[in-house]
Amino acid sequence: MKLSYAPYFLEFKHPFGLSHGTRTKTDVVYVKLEKDDKIGYGEAALPPYLGETQTSVTAFFKKAAPVLENTNLPLAEIIQTIDKISYGNTAAKAALDIALYDLSGKIQNKPVYELLGLEKPAPKETSVTIAIGDLSLIPGKLKELSDFKLLKIKLGNANDKEIISCIRKHTDKPLVADINQGWTDKYFALDMIHWLAEQNVLFTEQPLPKENYKDMSWLTEKSPLPILADESFQRLDDLEKISECFSGINLKLMKCAGLYEGVKIISAAKKKKLKINIGCMSESSCGIAAAAQLMHYADWVDLDGPMLIKNNAFSGINFIDGKLELNNSPGTGALLQNSGISFQLCQG
Ligand code: MG
Repeated sequence: MKLSYAPYFLEFKHPFGLSHGTRTKTDVVYVKLEKDDKIGYGEAALPPYLGETQTSVTAFFKKAAPVLENTNLPLAEIIQTIDKISYGNTAAKAALDIALYDLSGKIQNKPVYELLGLEKPAPKETSVTIAIGDLSLIPGKLKELSDFKLLKIKLGNANDKEIISCIRKHTDKPLVADINQGWTDKYFALDMIHWLAEQNVLFTEQPLPKENYKDMSWLTEKSPLPILADESFQRLDDLEKISECFSGINLKLMKCAGLYEGVKIISAAKKKKLKINIGCMSESSCGIAAAAQLMHYADWVDLDGPMLIKNNAFSGINFIDGKLELNNSPGTGALLQNSGISFQLCQG
């Protein structure tokens, strides 16, 4: 297999306000795997909080390249071997996992969900994030995303009630509140969640700092809304702990190293009766087409990455009337659109 990569960055349509700062772009690295005349694509999305960079991703690819030379190994074995190269690097691993499944699907002429033995994902409603900055811009943003039936709002600022009240002046659509660890006091968090429940908020994500399991457990027990772990939850090994303190998980390929482990997480989470939200980082349609292969098993889908960026380098999925649809092509279905992206060969 020939491995090449291309660093790129995704520009947001609107600056992206979070409890811990505002961003205008996200770095990504695309990876291309070639075998005979088939090509598989993958994406590593690199929000700063995960600690990976374009440099660390390409360095990881160089370490993984020798593993990909032995193409006779079963896919699972290749992915497990790559995972053992280092402890972290989950986005770099996810990019390779996605490209491997995309390539295998194209070689076998099957969509990835079929390769993984999963149900075919029917079109499913996805939430979409309304970037919060200047509140006077909210009506315009709501109009721009009017197809979507479920809106995600980032909270964890001093003016959380003001933000929700402002949105409620313009729409009564159900909301999802993502706090991104922005609250610190459990009593304050419980009061806020009670208030949000009255505002037609369906669930909250990561209200407290990620390692505060004790208070999270207390909060989940008393909360009128499901509470999902995002920053507290990365990989399959975290699930035992998480099931004691949260009602569900936000599963993202960039955190769990890709589809291979994502499928295992879904199966284990279902056994523990945890709610599952399939989410994403700021990703183009390359990463989203992969995550969408898992949609059938999600209680909620939050795969809005391509809606939030100006320079999507891939196509292959569609948003129709607020629902995310796969194109059911072999592989993930992602198609490279930007011919200006130049891949460089990875020499291990
Ligand atoms: Mg989140």
